[in-house]
Amino acid sequence: MRYLILSDIHANITAFDAVLASAEGRWDKAICLGDIVGYGPDPDEAVERLRSLDCITIRGNHDKAISGLDEAEDFNPVARTAVLWSRERLSAENLDFLTSLRSGPVVVDGFCIVHGSIRNEDEYVFVPPQAIEALRNAPTPLTFFGHTHRQGGFLQRGAGLGIVNFDLTARNLIWTLKLEEGVTYLLNPGSIGQPRDGDPRAAYAIADTERGTIEFWRVPYDIAAVQARMLDALLPEPLILRLADGR
Ligand code: ZN
Repeated sequence: MRYLILSDIHANITAFDAVLASAEGRWDKAICLGDIVGYGPDPDEAVERLRSLDCITIRGNHDKAISGLDEAEDFNPVARTAVLWSRERLSAENLDFLTSLRSGPVVVDGFCIVHGSIRNEDEYVFVPPQAIEALRNAPTPLTFFGHTHRQGGFLQRGAGLGIVNFDLTARNLIWTLKLEEGVTYLLNPGSIGQPRDGDPRAAYAIADTERGTIEFWRVPYDIAAVQARMLDALLPEPLILRLADGR
């Protein structure tokens, strides 16, 4: 089975459509690690597109905040502005869909999916000590996580921890990781709608459970078109600028 692993779409339909075009014909089932909305200008379109994929989806912190399950008090002012803006624009049906999403961890076909970390959907896994803690709690040898908007991740072989990162100047297929027996993996497909690892291209992954491989991809998209829609919508300037920087 080939799984399309999507995360942190953040209401950016141009990036999402570029990812779907790039991955066309190469996956059987889609999975989303949350944050479908928030930050970007296209909340309804992003939710509609995701729903059309019949995707296995868990919620992210922005989905939770925008659906009103969380008052977003710990969000910074810029993120909170986008939460309130998105909440007003989503159709009742799409808001219901976001409200109905379950939280991770969820085990799918022998691997685990979470938004933040395994013990807490809102927790970030940026650095090795956080990854060691998360790997210790992993219910399966392979876990996919999102939330940090950084493609890559961590692996544990015996007592040793490795970091999975990439040459971001590489072409669209960044890397194919061959999974090894006895190794535990915590992998992030990267963010579709707002990458923060220095590469502004939309990020995603494809997991092939028969071959035991994970492909990490980057896809260019029309960033200027998304920035223009954000400007029209009066979304906060830092959110507009960071799309081009990928930070
Ligand atoms: Zn996010």
